[in-house]
Amino acid sequence: MNKTGPYQPVCAFCDSKRLELVMDFGEVGLAGAFLKPEQFAAERTFPMRLHFCTDCFAVQVTDKVPADVMFKDYFYFSSSIGTLRDHFREYAAEVTQRFLDPERATVLEFGCNDGVLLRPLADQRIRTVIGVDPASNVVATINDSRIKVINDYFTEEVAARVVGEYGPVDLIMANNVYAHIPDIQGTTRAVAQALGPDGVFVFEVHYLGKVIDELQYDMIYHEHLYYYSLLSVINHLARYDMMVFDIKPIPIHAGSIRFYACKKGSRHGASVSSAVTALAAAERQRGFDRFETFRKFSDTVAAHRDELIALLNRLREEGKRIAGYGASGRANTMIQYCGINHSHLDYMIDDAPAKAGYCTPKSHFEIFPSSILDQGSPPDYLLIFAWSFLDEIRKRNAGYLGKGGRMIIPLPKVSIFPPSAT
Ligand SMILES: [Zn+2]
Repeated sequence: MNKTGPYQPVCAFCDSKRLELVMDFGEVGLAGAFLKPEQFAAERTFPMRLHFCTDCFAVQVTDKVPADVMFKDYFYFSSSIGTLRDHFREYAAEVTQRFLDPERATVLEFGCNDGVLLRPLADQRIRTVIGVDPASNVVATINDSRIKVINDYFTEEVAARVVGEYGPVDLIMANNVYAHIPDIQGTTRAVAQALGPDGVFVFEVHYLGKVIDELQYDMIYHEHLYYYSLLSVINHLARYDMMVFDIKPIPIHAGSIRFYACKKGSRHGASVSSAVTALAAAERQRGFDRFETFRKFSDTVAAHRDELIALLNRLREEGKRIAGYGASGRANTMIQYCGINHSHLDYMIDDAPAKAGYCTPKSHFEIFPSSILDQGSPPDYLLIFAWSFLDEIRKRNAGYLGKGGRMIIPLPKVSIFPPSAT
């Protein structure tokens, strides 16, 4: 980072310098960097800016944090994989049936984690199943003789090694990692290099349209570098002679989208699905190819912040006690962007007992287990940072609501549950 001259961001996808600033979050603590009070003095903060590339339409966090800082002492609470097992079984069956001759096929997933998708792919009797992931402690848990593990980032060097050993790959997959890779150009070059002439590249990411529709600015943090629209993906892949031939919205992760891509001139590219044509048209109509759209988004977010802070101030003036609920990375973005401080909230609550005793980054709210709601005098209001799980949270806290407790739901619109009778 150039500390002496003015900040000149560069597009991670196309190297353009024609970027427009969408949002500036200022100096923030890393969204996942929960800490103990004795670590406050050594806490580091980093600038965080969201930009739109006027050349390739990619929306991206341009401030990168060194990987050794990012992944040190980190809290990762993976979602309950049990509930996703059916999803991955269906996913594996679908791509196998649609694209592969299992007896001859080579499939590779990068960012394969503990093999949650590779196992059902191996169950489809695919000849060669390869998992690539840099996290050695995670891939060590795969332990399945049907799966070849490469403990590394998916680079061009790894792609060359794979092709040398197993031949061109028929199907490359990436699930929820494509938004987190600083060297996105190198990774996509590796994909293009490893993919066979009629191979398919399938990846799932959070969809930019959902961020805009639901005002999900709390999804923005350093770890989550990119926010993909179809138009930006089309532009990115075109630089590697690749194209999108199909898409699919994914209900299981609210707001995810699956892209199906191939090399230009391959048999899959001969017909582009109507879903692709329709979404591309819708995105153009909504202005995902224009900065103006994102400037408006940023204005709406600022208005949301003002409304939320005004509500918190009013309730505090009335002497209400308020606690935050759901100490996640998303909560930390909202807290830091809105400037929520100890004059607004008393403390945080989280259902994961392991977080108890830690504090939120920079804002330093202490985290208590949710059992605190059953003791003594619970807070008058809970500010629901985990608002995307609202139904589940209401059910789980029926006792709290039954005793007159109320919930502030920040997004997509600021509201109170149950609504006031007056
Ligand atoms: Zn660009």
